[in-house]
Amino acid sequence: MAAHLRLRGTLALVTGGGSGIGRAICARFAREGAQVAIADCDEAGAAQTLRGLQAGDHQALRVDVGCAKSVADLVAQIQARFSRPANVCVNCAGITMDEFLLKQTEEAFDAVLRVNLKGTFLVTQAVAKALVASGASGGSIINLGSIVGKVGNLGQVNYSASKAGVEALSKTAAKELARYGIRCNTVLPGFVRSPMTDKVPQKVLDKFAAMVPLGRLGEPEDVAEVCAFLASDDSRYITGASLEVTGGLFI
Ligand code: NAD
Repeated sequence: MAAHLRLRGTLALVTGGGSGIGRAICARFAREGAQVAIADCDEAGAAQTLRGLQAGDHQALRVDVGCAKSVADLVAQIQARFSRPANVCVNCAGITMDEFLLKQTEEAFDAVLRVNLKGTFLVTQAVAKALVASGASGGSIINLGSIVGKVGNLGQVNYSASKAGVEALSKTAAKELARYGIRCNTVLPGFVRSPMTDKVPQKVLDKFAAMVPLGRLGEPEDVAEVCAFLASDDSRYITGASLEVTGGLFI
């Protein structure tokens, strides 16, 4: 099959699809022939992603990934709309609330863990349950971790902990879901230009860019390409893996 249609027949759920990396993943998946369910708490952002997609049968949906009821509703809406469960899921919804450890509030810690880690758990569980119940053969879950979950980062005690948790969650899911033919992998981006990193002071971004062996910050498309590979059958023997997409930062 031509590489650009590797995802024909795939129904992909992309959380955080209303912005940045998630939007690039939706676009890439649609170009490769997937139907895409674009899920975000930002409905306007999800609708904007939908408008930008290559023609096909796609849908924008609202979800709060940190809320089990909202996630259950999302999975039910996908089933009703497409008459089947998503067989690819990218957990890309994420937030930062940066502050140094000595000043970090309990609220900011809880809020980041709720979206990044609990959200990944709730969506992974709901999607896997729906897939297993449908009797479908195989699936691919792709979770967005971060390189800072491995190495830590100033001002990101909550975020780095949440992303380390995502990586561990993915490895356990990979072990438990393998018997159903469902793979689960983590992508660890470095610093990627997006609305999330727009909040980071330019001098900090410049400092990181200077440290990247490949000489530049990442673009959302750099991550989307890797997600398309992990969603496709080209990665059929890869599960429980963490793929660094960092331009070589921190190697
Ligand atoms: P972004 O802020 O552009 O996009 C995040 C999206 O998640 C937004 O559309 C937002 O509305 C959505 N979202 C937030 N909370 C949600 C919730 N409760 N329910 C549903 N949707 C919610 O950020 P991005 O840079 O595109 O990041 C995407 C993912 O990649 C995140 O998980 C992030 O942690 C991860 N990541 C980003 C970078 C980077 O440098 N940009 C690096 C490593 C990892």
